[in-house]
Amino acid sequence: MATEQSAITRATFDDVIVPIYAPAQFIPVKGKGSRIWDQAGAEYIDFAGGIAVTALGHCHPALVEALKAQGETLWHVSNVFTNEPALRLGRKLTEATFAERVVFMNSGTEANETAFKLARHYAITRHNPYKTKIIAFHHAFHGRSFFTVSVGGQPKYSDGFGPKPADIVHVPFNDLHAVKAVMDDRTCAVVVEPVQGEGGVIAANPAFLQGLRALCDQYQALLVFDEVQCGMGRTGELFAYMHYGVTPDILTSAKALGGGFPVSAMLTTQDVASAFHAGSHGSTYGGNPLACAVAEAAFDIINTPKVLEGVVRKRAQFVAHLQRIDKQYDLFSDIRGMGLLIGAELKPRYRGRARDLLLAAADAGVMVLNAGPDVLRFAPALVVETADIDEGMMRFTQAAARFVKG
Ligand SMILES: *Cc1c(COP(=O)(O)O)cnc(C)c1O
Repeated sequence: MATEQSAITRATFDDVIVPIYAPAQFIPVKGKGSRIWDQAGAEYIDFAGGIAVTALGHCHPALVEALKAQGETLWHVSNVFTNEPALRLGRKLTEATFAERVVFMNSGTEANETAFKLARHYAITRHNPYKTKIIAFHHAFHGRSFFTVSVGGQPKYSDGFGPKPADIVHVPFNDLHAVKAVMDDRTCAVVVEPVQGEGGVIAANPAFLQGLRALCDQYQALLVFDEVQCGMGRTGELFAYMHYGVTPDILTSAKALGGGFPVSAMLTTQDVASAFHAGSHGSTYGGNPLACAVAEAAFDIINTPKVLEGVVRKRAQFVAHLQRIDKQYDLFSDIRGMGLLIGAELKPRYRGRARDLLLAAADAGVMVLNAGPDVLRFAPALVVETADIDEGMMRFTQAAARFVKG
């Protein structure tokens, strides 16, 4: 309708986009490594990583090369055909993990939707039609489709859409007694994030995950690990389950899997996978060659001692800075998480203000995240340079100084 094209600004968002987000006022236009520039040329150090997605930073040369090479070769064929990048990536994921079978999707939501449908279908077909109960946890996050948001433990995200998928029970995270109280022969699956991300960056206790494994074995239920956020090197192991020495029956991966290209995966055993047959589930785009070629390039770099060991060192550097800032400004009641998924919980007097501090940080030239109203979250590239950590945390110190003055 408009005859003259006006400039693209933040106001354009309100004019044309469905209002499910409240994005920052500046618009990023370029990224390189752990730096981002906005329309005005202002530079930011990126400790948000697109919400734990850009694990190799922005425009990593190997990912750009994989995207270009596959982009000039074959983009999409649908699942009426298979393709070489998907088969290569599937082989690598099964060789590196407990899994014997993989299926690719496009988002964390879809990988979890696949996992929950498979867990239900496995129980119904192998056991009985009444074995449908899913046990999940308060504050868990598993995606935004109606099934995944209902398994998630934040009713504010699932309320207001009419009748919810049934037979889903929520209990407190890290509370094995609460799980025991609801676990029974009708339980088909226990679904858990080994490190809760959106729920406040809270790692599971080893005894909790071990206890879930034992209960699932006792009641012939499947243990499902949602590693969409905490997997793919984030904790310093390829997947968080490797830290715990607790092997799930189903594991989901997304976010960092494609380093920024949309792709996800559900990993499982041959036995569980065999409950599905051709036609049980599907996706038009899932496992497309373009996504899988980029994910393969990301996997080849992330699954190396150099990157995984670097995560442990870089975490120590972040934590030292956060402790220094806390000493100076008395800001945090807890610094937690695993690897480069770091949570800093605000002291009671600053509760509810994580987003204010996040915005102050952006003003000071550093991007961070929150995880709920009280927790700051850092999810930088796994390969973030030590100089960028120091520079970014200096900028964050300035933001903290302004925030406490207030
Ligand atoms: C982000 C996230 C999801 C959802 O992934 P999308 O790609 O946004 O659909 C699911 N589970 C966890 C643990 C996540 O952090």
